[in-house]
Amino acid sequence: MTAFPANRTNLVRLLSPLVLILGVFLGKDALVSLAGDNFTIVGNLPYILFAIAILICQTFNQGRMGMIALLMTVCYWVIQTRLQTPLATGTTRLEYTLLAFILPVAAMMVYLFPEKRLFSQSGALYSLLLLFMLGWAAITIRHYTDVGQQELWDGILLIVPQVSTLPLIIVCYSVLLILTSAMLLAYYSRALDFTIYLSLLCAFCTFFALNTPYISSLLFSLAGLLTIANVISTSHELAFVDQLTEIPGRRALESEMKHLGRKYTIAMLDIDHFKSFNDTYGHDTGDQVLRLVASKMTQTRGQAKVYRYGGEEFTVLFKGKTKQQAKPILEELRQSIEDYRISLRDKNGRPQDDKVGTSKRNQSNKVKTVQVTISIGVADSKEERDPTAVTKAADKALYRAKDKGRNRVSF
Ligand code: GH3
Ligand code: MG
Ligand code: MG
Repeated sequence: MTAFPANRTNLVRLLSPLVLILGVFLGKDALVSLAGDNFTIVGNLPYILFAIAILICQTFNQGRMGMIALLMTVCYWVIQTRLQTPLATGTTRLEYTLLAFILPVAAMMVYLFPEKRLFSQSGALYSLLLLFMLGWAAITIRHYTDVGQQELWDGILLIVPQVSTLPLIIVCYSVLLILTSAMLLAYYSRALDFTIYLSLLCAFCTFFALNTPYISSLLFSLAGLLTIANVISTSHELAFVDQLTEIPGRRALESEMKHLGRKYTIAMLDIDHFKSFNDTYGHDTGDQVLRLVASKMTQTRGQAKVYRYGGEEFTVLFKGKTKQQAKPILEELRQSIEDYRISLRDKNGRPQDDKVGTSKRNQSNKVKTVQVTISIGVADSKEERDPTAVTKAADKALYRAKDKGRNRVSF
């Protein structure tokens, strides 16, 4: 989990849908003529894209993103089948308002579900809830005949035609929920947060500018495309990023090894006496330290790439550098870990008894600091050509560093 305030990745994820939506509005005529004014293609594109998204979600066990894709499909279908007549006719305006109200609720509801496949009991329950909401909306619409509707539109559902065809209160409500989803994204930066934020934004802009020709097809296609990209990048991340430390893992390293140039340096890093550290402070504290040490390592200079090799071992890769060039950087890294006072919140000190717990709360929450050191073994592509052999040479150098007393860099 990334800490608040938002980092650069979060900022990109928050702003990119906004920029793309703006792009769609500016370039909509060009986009439509690109499809040769063929409405069948433009009009069906969202269905195709969301169907692909649902299939990928099912394959990669991303059921909750699949639910959002399903929701967007249903929403698009309602727009296409019910909202293509002028708003003043029949119950169109009411249906439009109801849809704009229901969609954010239905999207936020996904947070209540556990992460399962879409074609599962969870998915079935979610579909049932969607059906229930649609049914409820249909009943509401049937009971609100034209009689007395005008009062409703002039009262609570006031519309300001200069701004949007959407009632003002629904605009405020949508903006509020979009901001909520943006905050969830900034805080947790989970893939689901991005999908929900993106979907709410695209749907809202569609409702807001419903009179614009083709806008629903274009914006829902955009949402479909970004959902697909998001599912794929999430699955990629699951395979390549180490879950505990959130830095690239062994698989990422092995993949990168296939794309090394002629000149590179590999350093193997190992935390000293980590077993006894675990024995002293507990495995959870050990995990916390691994995370903090890993994040410290990512600050290594010289375009270094850092990977968790496994356990308490890490690999640093320098492309285009010899070990002589990497030496000062690694020495600096070793020193920075040695100097790093790792602050830990002591959770284990909390007494069992509640009364005692209150009186000793300050004491039990006190921050303790710990220190670790690392040993580093280095080898470069000058001594061996094959990356596996270079890794082995670095490993041997690491053993020498351990033998010589640890907390040192060995070549
Ligand atoms: P040395 O200085 O020779 O490297 O000693 P060491 O104790 O660090 O080496 P050893 O390889 O014997 O032990 C590695 C320890 O790292 C064993 C295990 O308890 C700990 N460890 C490995 N992976 C994890 C992890 O994911 N979390 C925690 N908390 N500990 C881990
Ligand atoms: Mg080890
Ligand atoms: Mg060790």
